[in-house]
Amino acid sequence: MRGALDRRRLIQGSASLAALGLAGCAATAVAPPRPKPALAPIRADVSRLFDITVCLRPFRAAGPRLDAEQVGSKLVVHNYGHGGSGWSLSWGSAHVVVAKAMASSPKEIAVIGCGALGLTAAITAQQAGAQVTIYAREMLPDTRSARATGTWSPTSRIALESKVAADFPALWEEMARTSWRTYRRYLGLPGNPVEWRDKYSLFDAGHVPSHASGGLDFADFTDRIGDITPASEDIAPDTTPFLVASVRRTSLLQFNIADYAHTLMMDFLSAGGRFAHAEFHTLGEVSRLKEKVVINCTGYGARELCKDESIVPVRGQIGWLIPQPEVDYGLYYDGVNVVSRRDGIVVQMLEGGDMRGYGDANETIDRAESEEAVRRIASLTARI
Ligand SMILES: Cc1cc2nc3c(=O)[nH]c(=O)nc-3n(C[C@H](O)[C@H](O)[C@H](O)COP(=O)(O)OP(=O)(O)OC[C@H]3O[C@@H](n4cnc5c(N)ncnc54)[C@H](O)[C@@H]3O)c2cc1C
Repeated sequence: MRGALDRRRLIQGSASLAALGLAGCAATAVAPPRPKPALAPIRADVSRLFDITVCLRPFRAAGPRLDAEQVGSKLVVHNYGHGGSGWSLSWGSAHVVVAKAMASSPKEIAVIGCGALGLTAAITAQQAGAQVTIYAREMLPDTRSARATGTWSPTSRIALESKVAADFPALWEEMARTSWRTYRRYLGLPGNPVEWRDKYSLFDAGHVPSHASGGLDFADFTDRIGDITPASEDIAPDTTPFLVASVRRTSLLQFNIADYAHTLMMDFLSAGGRFAHAEFHTLGEVSRLKEKVVINCTGYGARELCKDESIVPVRGQIGWLIPQPEVDYGLYYDGVNVVSRRDGIVVQMLEGGDMRGYGDANETIDRAESEEAVRRIASLTARI
């Protein structure tokens, strides 16, 4: 580390001499500075934590539930259980369930739930020609979806390899590709609902990658869409400001959820959509709706509503640092994920891998966890 610092000082010294027109006087052995990406430092300080949020990923070992069933006189098409991939797969999932819902060409469709899955299903149903009303206990800024990290993660805790049906990998691929195409439409819009960011994964010397999965074989189908998603690249640490042993850079699609959710709500309303506050205690209560076709997008709520105990809660917590628009990159360091969004800098402890929070339905805030995550990032930024 000292070597890296000394080299850096030498480089800075030769740059200063050049600025004074004295470059010829500098020691000839000093290499010219290599171009570095201009990465503004993150102000990682616990006093800048302005919020801490907790959310439950609705995980199902078999993957999301997307089948249709007759409940009394209503056709209910399910659209829940997307684990840590709900935002990423939402548009593809919407296409699958809306095709089932539109089979009888209904004029009206009811969507229960106003999270990532409910809103995208509702908009997709509108595009298919239906008049749509969303019935929900909470609207998006208050739903669990609003507390997600906000990155393209279509294979995050989506299913267990050993529990999915034989045709699930192909279905997943279709959903991921449809979502990817649809997200293309939200790039470059005012407010940046969706944008590209570079992410730097940083490792100290002696780092041993841990994929703690507690014996569970979480499915990973990433290779199936390798042709549309950018590959990671290992880059020389001294081409970055970070004093670490190795660096991997990835370009990631990022969802700025405050703006993206607002855009979706406005799109739904401007296409004639309606919202109605409603709480359902049993699935049979859909009988009170006027619509004959219902898409059930209740996320973790489906565990109670549908008595579906195959849904396992996977707790996740995010600490929010005050946004810094000049920080236009993300980080992973020492078990902590950082995503610099327009609505706040996400700082999230990921130590323990996919098993972190598995089976934990406790939505109480653990401030010590977020403070520890911020301190780990501070230990990195202190060395820049
Ligand atoms: C910490 C964390 C980070 C994540 N990060 C990402 C990420 O970066 N990328 C990604 O793709 N995914 C991510 N996820 C996963 C993603 O957030 C979820 O998959 C997604 O939010 C699920 O959305 P949903 O619409 O199914 O459920 P919800 O957002 O929970 O919405 C459910 C809706 O149904 C309504 N509802 C529920 N029950 C009833 C009832 N009985 N009566 C009436 N209404 C009801 C609720 O009020 C709400 O409107 C993350 C999850 C967590 C926990």
